[in-house]
Amino acid sequence: MKIEITKTCNRCGILQPISEFQKHEAYTGGHVCICKKCTSDYGRKRREDPKIKERLYANNKIWKLRNPKRALNIKLRSYIKILQKNGYKVIKINS
Ligand SMILES: [Zn+2]
Repeated sequence: MKIEITKTCNRCGILQPISEFQKHEAYTGGHVCICKKCTSDYGRKRREDPKIKERLYANNKIWKLRNPKRALNIKLRSYIKILQKNGYKVIKINS
């Protein structure tokens, strides 16, 4: 039996195969609601806009200053992800 799973993009409204959507654990069904093409178009537009770029950078900086512990945790988590991707085993030790 061969099945094909499709999903409608929330942005362009086109029904597409599930492979056109990024996987994401947090979303119902394990995939994001916006197709890969729309996601990249949206990201490109945002990155190209200097006003948005500046605002994102400033907001990020403020957030980091207000939440130093969480910022450090995110940094640590992304570092752990990189290590795990490269075959390292990371064990959490409570102290
Ligand atoms: Zn789309």
